Amino acid sequence: MFRVILGLFVCTSLFGNGHIRVLLAQGEVTQPIEWQFITSKKSFLCAFSEGSLFCNGKRLPKNALRISTDDNRCAYQDAAYAGDIALIIQDNHWYIINNLLLDDYVYSVLRSESWPGWPLEVNKVFAIMVRTYAVHKIMVAKNQKKRPLFDIRATNVHQTYKGVHDFEHLRQAVNDTHDIIITYNKQPIVAMYDSCCGGVIPAQLSGFDFKSNPYLARPYACIYCSECKLFNWSFTYPHDTLLNLLQKEFPDIKQIKDIRVTASDKAGKALEISVVSGKTSKVHKTITASAMYRLCKDVRSFCYTIKKEGKDFIFAGKGFGHHMGVCQWGVRTMAKKGFLCKEILDYYYPGTTLMKLVTEPHHAAA
Ligand SMILES: [Zn+2]
Repeated sequence: MFRVILGLFVCTSLFGNGHIRVLLAQGEVTQPIEWQFITSKKSFLCAFSEGSLFCNGKRLPKNALRISTDDNRCAYQDAAYAGDIALIIQDNHWYIINNLLLDDYVYSVLRSESWPGWPLEVNKVFAIMVRTYAVHKIMVAKNQKKRPLFDIRATNVHQTYKGVHDFEHLRQAVNDTHDIIITYNKQPIVAMYDSCCGGVIPAQLSGFDFKSNPYLARPYACIYCSECKLFNWSFTYPHDTLLNLLQKEFPDIKQIKDIRVTASDKAGKALEISVVSGKTSKVHKTITASAMYRLCKDVRSFCYTIKKEGKDFIFAGKGFGHHMGVCQWGVRTMAKKGFLCKEILDYYYPGTTLMKLVTEPHHAAA
């Protein structure tokens, strides 16, 4: 049970019809192309050719197709999905969009974005975060002048969504938190979360618009994630390994004489990295910390330093992720210590309120 009174929030008509539209795949129409969808009763082989969409050999009147089934299941590629699946051709692109109930979506995402084996209270926290993030996306899409075809992407650009799964116990976390979302000023928050914050203080991070999202400016360090093995991390790159990586950004570099973080913010986030590559100690190249993060998969977060030792380069950093919002390893420890999900969410998103989505009452015609 929650310790606060849950306020009434937006009507479902304002954020949608209780469903979410997830983009599963998309592409450009460059040549005749085929897709296959399988339901318990039938297989649908669809093709786009010469400006028309075909299904099982029959030309369709529109360049769009929706597959819905009695058993609420449809498979595409290697996964089965709850709800309907639409194939839409528009502006020389194709889109496969899964339209499903919000809680079926939350249940699915928990499998990928949470740890199914962790305690129920942890998964309740994650269920509320995942739902809040999704509702925010639905409202952003709904408020655009021209409503986009989908609300959210299925990849980790937004939240990883892989369709139905058999971790049935996660359903309880979804049901126990049904319709509950995190709000600030009665609006769903941008529910950012990362794996392990590394004790970095989010309010000290530069380059983020905290004015619009003050609940992300947590002014104190999380003290609950030190059990995570990436709370502090370090690794060593031999000269040639790092050189190979940097050459993807700077093909003309032939050797690395030194490399170090030359600008960082108060939180310890690396902002600029300088590479000395010539015979003098003059800096020859600078690279942004985010470019380095993309180049080196071993760099796990934004707060790190680099030091030269002999011919090797040692990277040392804190946490796993972007350091903002909920720290998942911290949630785990807090739940083990007996904190309830409302208390945990208050800790990571200060100043927020839990509210409940409500269905708009049906007004009878006068
Ligand atoms: Zn943490």
